[in-house]
Amino acid sequence: MFGQNSKKNELSCEDLNAILNLLSSEFSSVCKIPLKGQIQKDFKFQDKKIAKIKNIFNSFVAQQAGFLKQKTIELAGQLNSIINSLDDGIVILDKNGKVTLANQSFLKITNLSEKEIQEIKKEQLFKKFIERVKDKTELDIFLKSDNQEINKIFQFDFQFTTPHYIFIKFYSAPILDQKKNLSGRVIIFHDITKEAEINRLKSEFVSVASHQLRTPLTAIKWFLEELKDERLGELNPRQKDYIEQTYESNERMLRLVNDLLNVSRLETSRLKITPKPTQLEELIVGVIDESLPLAISRNCQVKFIRPKQYFGQIAVDTALIRQVLINLISNAIKYSKEGGDKNVVEVKLEKKPPFMVISVADKGIGIPADQQANIFDKFYRVENAKIEGSGLGLYIAKMIVELSGGKIRFDSEESRGTTFYINLPLSGSQPRAGDKTLT
Ligand code: ADP
Repeated sequence: MFGQNSKKNELSCEDLNAILNLLSSEFSSVCKIPLKGQIQKDFKFQDKKIAKIKNIFNSFVAQQAGFLKQKTIELAGQLNSIINSLDDGIVILDKNGKVTLANQSFLKITNLSEKEIQEIKKEQLFKKFIERVKDKTELDIFLKSDNQEINKIFQFDFQFTTPHYIFIKFYSAPILDQKKNLSGRVIIFHDITKEAEINRLKSEFVSVASHQLRTPLTAIKWFLEELKDERLGELNPRQKDYIEQTYESNERMLRLVNDLLNVSRLETSRLKITPKPTQLEELIVGVIDESLPLAISRNCQVKFIRPKQYFGQIAVDTALIRQVLINLISNAIKYSKEGGDKNVVEVKLEKKPPFMVISVADKGIGIPADQQANIFDKFYRVENAKIEGSGLGLYIAKMIVELSGGKIRFDSEESRGTTFYINLPLSGSQPRAGDKTLT
């Protein structure tokens, strides 16, 4: 640190000179002796004084070292009691994945004793309780990850089934030293049981309320259809107009109620996923045909660009992927530009191993850059969206695509248009047990 000629633990004259130049003001106030000018002059000529200053300084350094050591011990103690008093379970691993610290909350959440987890590696630590975890998929990915993966952050939820039902938000991040080298990893278990229960109750309430609303709304729809089609007698133009407007409003309410029911089914994991070999080309053609009335009303043409080669079938839940296509194609039509030339929406199916890619491209109003980050959020609607909607379509689409093992993304430019891409694994989707289907 200081001059090369220093004897171990002692300071040379050069050291002192350098220190005095650098720290003279602080040093003088601490040691209460006249420094800089006078002493600098002195130590050039008077060995005794230099020795005295060396002694003062060395004992000052020793004092400071003792003080720092004491402070470090105190701080470590404080830090330990803070970590132990936290409600979150915390584990610190060294760079080889060995446990160096686990707080009381972690022991309580996992039902383990301090003795059980001393000096063990993360794999053995998790083995002690993984059997009590409901869905182990993401924990398994974390456990198989390399300890040396410096930048990897893991974040997911899981659930303990015994001895108590506890929902955990899992977070793990690397700990880096000053030189940005990996020195370990921190794991945090945050108990979200209360939030999960509130969410479950909320979803259940929405589901029950939507169910209760759907029955009378469906009955209203039938009665209005009878009137609208003049099966009960001829209507004058004013009556016809009123009935048609009432019918449209009722349809909007039914759509919203159905979307809410679907959201609660998706969120409460009650939705059954039943992948079956599916001809995606046929599925797309069906949805495009269905969207024809909407397309005509918006002066829009929907084109299908088929894959160059026939590639057979892939296993997906047809009803779910159909819903995603309906949401994306109807959005592309809805958010096309009004007036002017005919709007064109292009739906394309391509094989890009390991995925099948379906894209839906429009040249419509586009999504402003500053609002693109929220586009898949529940109930989110862009400020420029003047057309009626619930803000649930993309949220539902994303949940379905991800549950099917795929990914959804988009490119968009305001006033230029938007393209949504769905990547579905060629290997097919995984089935999931559940007691509900989409409405
Ligand atoms: P909704 O269409 O019912 O409002 P969505 O979840 O389907 O709900 O879409 C959310 C928002 O994203 C819409 O309100 C709209 O602002 C924007 N959006 C979706 N698709 C497009 C698109 N193709 N072009 C422009 N904006 C879009």
